[in-house]
Amino acid sequence: MANSKYEYVKSFEVEDEIALPNVIVVQLHGREFVRFCKAHELRKPYDEEALELMNSCAEFVQRKYPDILFSYGFNDEYSFVFKKKTKFYERRASKILSLVTSCFTSVFVDKWKEFFSERELKYPPSFSGRVIVCATVDVLQHYLAWRQHECYITNQYRACFWALVNQGRTEKEAEEILKDTKKQDQNEMLHQQFNINYNNLPKIFRWGSCVLLMEVEAIVKYDKDGCPITRLKKQISTVHSQDIARRTFWNQKPSLVKELGSFVEDIRRIDKDYVKYFQSKNKLMPYTWGVIRIDGCHFHKFADVHKFEKPNDEQALKLMNECAVGVLHEFREVIFSYGVSDEYSFILKRSSHLQRTHPSDIVSSVVSFFTSMYMMKWKAFFPLTDLVCQPSFDGRVVCYSSTDILRDYLSWRQVDCHINNQYNTCFWMLVKSGKSRSEAQQILKGTQSQEKMELLANNFGIDYNTIGQMLRLGSSAFWEEENGCSKVVVQHCNIIDDSFWEAHPYILA
Ligand code: ATP
Ligand code: ATP
Ligand code: MG
Ligand code: MG
Repeated sequence: MANSKYEYVKSFEVEDEIALPNVIVVQLHGREFVRFCKAHELRKPYDEEALELMNSCAEFVQRKYPDILFSYGFNDEYSFVFKKKTKFYERRASKILSLVTSCFTSVFVDKWKEFFSERELKYPPSFSGRVIVCATVDVLQHYLAWRQHECYITNQYRACFWALVNQGRTEKEAEEILKDTKKQDQNEMLHQQFNINYNNLPKIFRWGSCVLLMEVEAIVKYDKDGCPITRLKKQISTVHSQDIARRTFWNQKPSLVKELGSFVEDIRRIDKDYVKYFQSKNKLMPYTWGVIRIDGCHFHKFADVHKFEKPNDEQALKLMNECAVGVLHEFREVIFSYGVSDEYSFILKRSSHLQRTHPSDIVSSVVSFFTSMYMMKWKAFFPLTDLVCQPSFDGRVVCYSSTDILRDYLSWRQVDCHINNQYNTCFWMLVKSGKSRSEAQQILKGTQSQEKMELLANNFGIDYNTIGQMLRLGSSAFWEEENGCSKVVVQHCNIIDDSFWEAHPYILA
């Protein structure tokens, strides 16, 4: 990739490698799931199908990323524990977080119809997440104990709450009745008023679910009498256990003990300081321009598999733009975005309150929402092509300290678009004219922009400057005022020169 004078902006990207011996845990949970459950009519207090769907997604993620050894989930949340020595994406926190969240989201959308065949998704579901760094196996044990305790407590509350509501109370009244009640009170209420024994409710609801590699008996073949012959096989499976943070559970799983260590003693009570640590948040630097850049994971392959036109599939670019428009509607703090190929950059308002929240929340939410849109809008742009594999995106957030530097960032991306598009146009014209890929590479090696223009003009009669603007200039999606109402528009314009910014002074105000 050629250099440009704007490349210095790369130095604002921060290293976020999680060094050894820390264990990496990714925790994600549904964004605005109360609304999602209502809109999709999930049953209360629990919808077993929805829980099974979550488990199925976790199994998929674990199969796709074998460095994840163990995951635990309940309700709308899941935590993924990586093996201690994982080299996954050089242990970079935002890469790992965004990829896991993105993958989980696309599978969730994909598998939805498997679990809810009668119900269409009404809008794109999304998840947000963060990385929990566990310095020792003891910290990990506390984390798991805390999450499982949370599962038990919240769901006991929810069982009471919905029993009261089903009996005719309003949600407000139910809340009032349950205020300050203890575990024991709730148990008695369930028992005496509703004849429900909480301990008889399904384990998936009370204890949550773990996904891990288990030895299971599998049928390998049938003998001549038709009787099955079984053998122990390792397989990623979901189990429900009451005591995931106890030695009786953990220490009996050789794969967990080998890669993460064993639990030394059982936890008597969950230490408040640990919980405070698990909940701690950092924030983005205030009064800077935050930019979230997402990029498709292995999109050269994704493009091949789905037969994208070369060098540029316009439908694929339009789909990316549509997803970006969705992001601008969903996250009102995003004021401008710029996209090319499989990437998009979203600029957060400088005074954005999002910027005062956890950077991980922002990155994972945007990546997840974008992925979800991509899945749901695919058919509208590729009506004749089925998705063969799910797309996933990685993401990062970078803060730029001044408007000039932010402008340089955007210029950097647009110059990159130009350089790549010019190269790719030449490359694919050469290939389409019969040259092999390596011959085409050889011809283009070391050529300057002017030479490429000439090559296109002389050999193929193409005036580069007449190629579609979306391909040469990329796409900008942003809010614009029109006759008093604001709407998101997509334009293909030069965002390097001052003229665009002078014509839209409110964007970077
Ligand atoms: P936020 O965006 O801040 O996370 P939220 O709307 O997602 O807010 P939460 O407090 O996280 O709210 O609660 C998630 C809600 O999702 C639960 O209260 C529960 O009502 C619902 N929920 C999650 N999973 C299920 C399920 N399998 N069946 C029924 N309801 C569920
Ligand atoms: P990584 O996972 O490191 O991002 P990648 O395969 O996604 O790897 P990129 O450098 O992001 O590599 O490049 C994206 C690739 O996706 C392009 O090289 C191109 O092959 C393909 N691609 C993306 N969008 C389109 C499109 N609209 N038309 C044709 N090909 C596309
Ligand atoms: Mg990519
Ligand atoms: Mg890319």
